[in-house]
Amino acid sequence: MQVRWNFKLLPNQSQETTLEDWLVTLRKHRNYALRERKDGFETNNKDASTQIIYSYGSYCELDSKIEYGSCCPLTCPVLKHGFIPQDQELAFKESKTRDKETKKVLSTTIGWDSASGIQMKVTSQLRQSLPHFAAIDSCVLQRNIANLDTAYSNFWKHNRGFPQFLRRLDSFEYKPGRVILRHIRKNYATVYLPGIGDVKFHRSRDLSLIQDLRTCTIKREGGIWYISMLVEISGTLPELKPLDECLSVVGIDVGINQLVALSDGSFQENKRVATNKKKARRLAMRQRAISRKQKGSKNKIKAIKKLAKQQHKIAQSRDGYNWQVASTIVKTADVVGREDLNIKNMVKRAKPKHDGLGGYKRNGASQKTGLNRVILDAGWGDIFKKIAWLALKAGKPVVPVPAKHSSQECPSCGHIDKSNREGEKFLCVACHHTEHADTKASRTIAKRVGLVFPPNKKTLPADCGKVTLSRHQSLGVEARNQAYGNHRHVWETPTTGYLGDTAQTPKESPCL
Ligand SMILES: [Zn+2]
Repeated sequence: MQVRWNFKLLPNQSQETTLEDWLVTLRKHRNYALRERKDGFETNNKDASTQIIYSYGSYCELDSKIEYGSCCPLTCPVLKHGFIPQDQELAFKESKTRDKETKKVLSTTIGWDSASGIQMKVTSQLRQSLPHFAAIDSCVLQRNIANLDTAYSNFWKHNRGFPQFLRRLDSFEYKPGRVILRHIRKNYATVYLPGIGDVKFHRSRDLSLIQDLRTCTIKREGGIWYISMLVEISGTLPELKPLDECLSVVGIDVGINQLVALSDGSFQENKRVATNKKKARRLAMRQRAISRKQKGSKNKIKAIKKLAKQQHKIAQSRDGYNWQVASTIVKTADVVGREDLNIKNMVKRAKPKHDGLGGYKRNGASQKTGLNRVILDAGWGDIFKKIAWLALKAGKPVVPVPAKHSSQECPSCGHIDKSNREGEKFLCVACHHTEHADTKASRTIAKRVGLVFPPNKKTLPADCGKVTLSRHQSLGVEARNQAYGNHRHVWETPTTGYLGDTAQTPKESPCL
């Protein structure tokens, strides 16, 4: 089984300096390579004074891979071709083109290779003349060019943005087989990084499981160094349990007031790691400090580092908490049903409203921005990803179901109405069925998974004593949930029947 493991690196001072120097050189290297390709593209290589000429003029059809000699830069993946003057004395690939005439022209006049092939060869020449290039492991430099290629192919094939010049680079990669694991001690281990030496790292996992070390990435986040290893470990993933053998299902509804509402009636609170009052204030303070500093000054750099540290801390605490949440959810039942949300669309900016006189009406843009910030802070997508992985490890299926009207549909009579919902309260306007809105939504989702269970629902693990979260009982009143404030016992009665049609829900309604 191949997994990615992250460890905290503990480099000593000289190693840290080397790592920092490498990142600066690698960034310049990448930017130079990008500039070279861009210039070739823009001038279409008519400027013969340039030492190396990349011909982006010749293009190939992406589907048929047939190559043509004439110019059409927009259909040409830039990685395809580059021409090189003969005096460069570099080894060249044989032309693979099917067009015989083009082949003849190519083979008689000039050698050719892909842009990255040429740039990699030039880089190895540079290593002989420039000491700061020679200090860097050659594989790392090659991966740097390969990453630029990935950026280009993302642009051509996957609708991503055009490769940008980097103002900062925070990671580099070693190819498989370059990094060697050494000295495993109780609390730490060392890893041999070519060009840097033996670097300690915090041993937070059982390293004896590792069978093979693949690509390793060294990263810097918030001033802290990490190594991310792709490792082959012993053990395989269990087979996914077939849906008809599963005995229980849990539906989850992600939200703002409660991060996750489970269909067994429990909740996972939303900690708002970046948008709670204290953290939001601190972040604003750090941002403001940066904007006050003089451009290009050392103090500005210091302030930026402080902010990065703060943001890194926040990201880590969100990550840790979301793992906990995901783990709790996966342990609850055999199948997890979740909404199929398009979060990217949900956090779009509010559209401007025209008033017909050339001006604009109020469109609630700032409110929407605030809401978007909270949604992004919750990390719903992140939770879904974590649930998917943990469920895969446990052999449990995860079923995404359509989210449409999940919070408006009445579980009792099926009536769909916007006015059914009032804040955290669900009150059906047709049959006066009442329930906590988020829990109800999660039950609707669980229902939409479409599994039918035997009538004796008491045997289901999800219903055994987990129906009401004890913390929820003791805290009782949510600040905004006045309607349920005096009727806490509503939630203490185990609601057993959410899976079938015989949904047994509290009859007394606090607001009737
Ligand atoms: Zn109803």
